[in-house]
This record gives sequence, C-alpha cells and structure tokens, in this order.
Amino acid sequence: MVSRSRDIWQSKARTDQLTGLPNRYAFFPELARIFHHTEIGDQRLVVAMIDVDHFKSVNDNYGHATGDRVLAQIAVLMQDAVRDSDIVARVGGEEFAIIFPGGNKLQAERALERLRMECEKHVFHFGEIDITVTLSIGAAVYQPKESKDALMGRADSLLYLAKEQGRNRTLIG
Ligand code: GH3
Ligand code: MG
Ligand code: MG
Repeated sequence: MVSRSRDIWQSKARTDQLTGLPNRYAFFPELARIFHHTEIGDQRLVVAMIDVDHFKSVNDNYGHATGDRVLAQIAVLMQDAVRDSDIVARVGGEEFAIIFPGGNKLQAERALERLRMECEKHVFHFGEIDITVTLSIGAAVYQPKESKDALMGRADSLLYLAKEQGRNRTLIG
C-alpha cells in the first residue's frame, strides 16, 4: 500500500494538472531516455518547442481562468495532431514540447503544420466569448553526433526565430 501510494504521488508530480500532459519533470528524463536510444539506434528523432503567441493578451482580455481553459484545449489539439508514440508535454506556462521518436523532418513538419493550422482556425468557444490563438513552433531534427543540449538549443533558437519572423509559423531544421 505504501509503495502504491508513492507511485500515485510520483505520477501526479509528473503530470500537469491543468492539461493532463506530462510536465517538465517528466519530459526531460523521457527526452534523455529517447535521445540515448536514438544515438545507439536508428538516429532518427525530432524535438519541437511550441509557444502560444501573445498569450498574455488572452489573460488580459478574458481573465486567467479562461486562459487556463484555452491551454487545456490546446493540449487536446496537440495530442490529436500527433501519433500515440509521439510525446506531448507542457514544459512551461504556455510552452509545450513534442518528441517524435524515430521521426524524420518531413513527418514531423507535416504533423506540426497540421497542428499549427488546426490551432489557427480553431475557435475556443466559452459562452459568449470566441477566442482564437496561434502557435509558433521551432523543431530540430537530430544530427548524428549532436548532443541533447545542442539539439534542444537548436529547437529553442528556431522557436525564437519563428517569433521574430512574425509568429504563427513552423521552423524546422
Ligand atoms: P509571445 O508571442 O512573445 O510568446 O507573447 P506572450 O504574451 O505569449 O508571451 P509572454 O511571455 O509575455 O507571456 C506569457 C503569458 O502566459 C503570461 C502568463 O500570464 C501566461 N501564462 C503562463 N502560464 C499560464 C497559465 O498556467 N495559465 C494562464 N491562464 N496563463 C498563463
Ligand atoms: Mg512563452
Ligand atoms: Mg507566448
């Protein structure tokens, strides 16, 4: 019983309560595990960092509770856009990450663009209020001999560039 309650506690600590997704404490060990398998295995991996555009204005205009509901629904769009074997996590406030184990550039780009376009056209509907939001996405394709930190750094840089280039876009490299 003791170990079972500890299991439940540990799994709760690794789950984001708002979205039900793995949180950053679950994401980074999982990424390390998958990265290791990629290095010794098929050398195929894509990691995407995703940030909701101008999310502060959603909170400012409609309140934090509504912002929370938007985030929870974005998480559903994300999971719908990828395969079951891909891993979606909430790594920060309005920041998400997706791991595509065994993924290549074309596959990941298709999934991420599908997600970006679904989100762009999705109307988050709460009573009288209709909200639309867009996503900026930076994704890095694993290059042989690259470190995990270098891979994540490239995804972050591409996300930053996507913001700079006007948001609502996917940059993958
Ligand atoms: P950008 O396009 O540059 O990303 O603009 P932004 O407004 O999304 O970025 P900024 O970093 O200025 O603001 C992030 C906002 O996300 C502010 C913060 O209150 C909101 N946020 C972060 N976590 C949560 C959360 O759990 N719930 C809600 N409702 N809002 C959150
Ligand atoms: Mg952010
Ligand atoms: Mg943002």
